[in-house]
Amino acid sequence: MRVIDTVKEMQETADKLRGEKRIGFVPTMGFLHEGHLALVRKARELADVTVASIFVNPIQFGPTEDLAKYPRDLDRDMKLLEQEKTDILFYPPYDEMYPKGYTTYVQVRGLEDYLCGQTRKGHFVGVATVVAKLFNMVKPHIAVFGQKDYQQLTIIERMVKDLNMDVRIIPYPTVREEGGLAMSSRNTYLSSAERQKALLIYASIKRLQELVKTGETDSLLLKEEARRLLASENGVNIEYVSISDPETLEEVDSVKDRAVYAVAVRIGKTRLIDNAMLGGGVT
Ligand code: AMP
Repeated sequence: MRVIDTVKEMQETADKLRGEKRIGFVPTMGFLHEGHLALVRKARELADVTVASIFVNPIQFGPTEDLAKYPRDLDRDMKLLEQEKTDILFYPPYDEMYPKGYTTYVQVRGLEDYLCGQTRKGHFVGVATVVAKLFNMVKPHIAVFGQKDYQQLTIIERMVKDLNMDVRIIPYPTVREEGGLAMSSRNTYLSSAERQKALLIYASIKRLQELVKTGETDSLLLKEEARRLLASENGVNIEYVSISDPETLEEVDSVKDRAVYAVAVRIGKTRLIDNAMLGGGVT
């Protein structure tokens, strides 16, 4: 695996490759788990050259968030990426991404106001900005993003469409641990007791999917049921429970066709998010 850490080398390499080969790209913040690796496998399946990036993007973290203690393990990440036959790791330092005088930001209006955007002000501007920059560096034909971060995926899809970016976004289903907890680099913060409590998130997904399958459509009632389940153990603090339109992310009153159940909770000091589709024949 080739490791590239400057924008110039990445762009020159991408320029040479792009004419002849399909470039597949998986942007990450590192501390890789099976969810990230599944994305890499998907990129490999759809492209000739696979590029993964690791960059913990400071501008998507709020002042009170976990930037300083975000987990990092480059050696381990490199071994895992090599095992997956990743061709290139792009690992730029901060100054390469945001040199002195940097002042341009990408805002995907509207979509950033809902769900996580309500508590994480500015987060999605940080995400859209770094992804736009990475696309200009890696020049991928396809880029794979996890549905685990549903709002992020929606925002990136919108940005690519609105700015006519020449890249196809491939959504990838959420990879879960045994028991259903969505894999996340932040799961490493959880104690074993907290991990147990976190299983309630998946229980709430299953419960709502089951209710919708048996004919329940009333969002208020469904959200009430989710809240009741999540609160059934002490220490699960709900940030939001939402049932939204899959494209606009606006809250819906009823699950007519398909809707997204999205949830954010805090367990101890750890913030966890998850989501799943309701209706539309989802099993
Ligand atoms: P992150 O390193 O958290 O920024 O995530 C990098 C990419 O991996 C994003 O596209 C995430 O949506 C995706 N991802 C993270 N966790 C999972 C998971 N459990 N299943 C599928 N994709 C994931």
